[in-house]
Amino acid sequence: MGTEYKNTAIECSIENCKHHCNSADYCSLDKIKVGTHECDPTKIPCTDCQSFEMK
Ligand code: SF4
Repeated sequence: MGTEYKNTAIECSIENCKHHCNSADYCSLDKIKVGTHECDPTKIPCTDCQSFEMK
C-alpha cells in the first residue's frame, strides 16, 4: 500500500514516518498498534505509535 493512500480513520502528523500519507495528515496503513513506553501511562506523551518506521 503506497503512501498516496490515506486511511481517514487514522489521523497522524508524523511526517518522518514512512507510513504517513504524502498529501494529507493521515496514516496509510489499514491498522496501527498503539502502546506505551511507561509502566503507568497517565498522559498523551506516554503513548506511542508502535507501527512507526523511519522514512
Ligand atoms: S504508522 Fe503511526 S506514526 Fe506512522 S503514519 Fe501511521 S499512525 Fe503515523
